[in-house]
Amino acid sequence: MATGRHPLHPFVGIDIMPGAPRGFASWGACVFGRSKQAVGGLLLYISCCDPVHIGVYKYQIWVKMVCGRDFAEIPPWRDGFEFAPTGKGGESVKRIFWVVLCAWMLVFAGMAECADVMRYMSEQDAMPNLRRDDLLEVHWINVASADCILLRIGERTMLIDSGRLKEYERITKYFQEIGVAHLDYVFETHPHDDHIGGFVGVLDEIPVGTYLKPRHYESYSSSLKTRLNRVIQRNQIPTEFVETGQQMYLGQARLTFYQWASSSVQQNNRSVVLKVEYGSRTVLLAADLEATGQRKLAELYGSALRADILKVPHHGINDYAQEFHDAVQPAFATISNTRKSADKFVTGLTRRNVPWVFTTKGTIIAVTEGDQWHVWQIPNPDASPGEGTLAYIRR
Ligand SMILES: [Zn+2]
Repeated sequence: MATGRHPLHPFVGIDIMPGAPRGFASWGACVFGRSKQAVGGLLLYISCCDPVHIGVYKYQIWVKMVCGRDFAEIPPWRDGFEFAPTGKGGESVKRIFWVVLCAWMLVFAGMAECADVMRYMSEQDAMPNLRRDDLLEVHWINVASADCILLRIGERTMLIDSGRLKEYERITKYFQEIGVAHLDYVFETHPHDDHIGGFVGVLDEIPVGTYLKPRHYESYSSSLKTRLNRVIQRNQIPTEFVETGQQMYLGQARLTFYQWASSSVQQNNRSVVLKVEYGSRTVLLAADLEATGQRKLAELYGSALRADILKVPHHGINDYAQEFHDAVQPAFATISNTRKSADKFVTGLTRRNVPWVFTTKGTIIAVTEGDQWHVWQIPNPDASPGEGTLAYIRR
């Protein structure tokens, strides 16, 4: 299925309305039209009695038009007005309304089946208020061909990897721009230089709650690792190991760590993969798994790895294993590399119709309230919108 090209992105939700009379169900439906400049659409929230008794019980309809507003300004579900016609003709008005709404719901319930979880935003689309407590933000910070990913929910933050040593100023500058002044957690997927280098500078500049690191690298040593350990000690940052299958929460987001847990496994293949779940949306940060590691994790954890967004493993250098694709089934992929070096994985993604974007073409920001991802890219000053950019997908 082509992504990002549908004229409509509808979805239908069901939930039980607090305080509704016993046996009543409330239904929520939301339809977003999309235009270049704005999100136009209709939010509809209806709670009603069962159709047999329509006209006997009072029912309520909330209708809210949302036109020309940006994502951040869409009002909450339950804003609106009560619609309860009475008097002469009131009953037939209610019946007609009910029939029309049922038809409308059925049409869009069908369309929701193929609704997309991804919305690719243009530079003109206003970014939501990134400090909202109810949004999960994932920032793939451009640190050249290396990994550096920030998770944030409200005031809660976690930095996953940090690029090479020289990149730390890019990271701290970006933190200043988006208002990150502390990190609750720092997480090292594995101790290679292109993943831990930036921490050496970042940890001296920003207060950090806990440093999380993987097991099975205890015997790994490098001059950079030694230097980083000194920085961790100097700043008295508590360190903790993460275990495969271990879970924790960052705000309301559930984090699960996965690892091919053996010290004899090749170094990249024992790097720790992190799955983040928020509402019904998911992202998998696949560290530096090579093809063998991808297959092993698929064998060990299967559909638990399923995710909307995949941070492509090992900078897209290796093949994209079919077993791993079957487990994850991503709708979108980010690659921390250049086209030339990531050719194998890019070919695999393209063949499977998974849209992909390079972090080297500009920092990528994915934001979700739990239902749908909204993805922006901040293009590099010298970048032109082409292959490997979000603009290319949106075309
Ligand atoms: Zn790497």
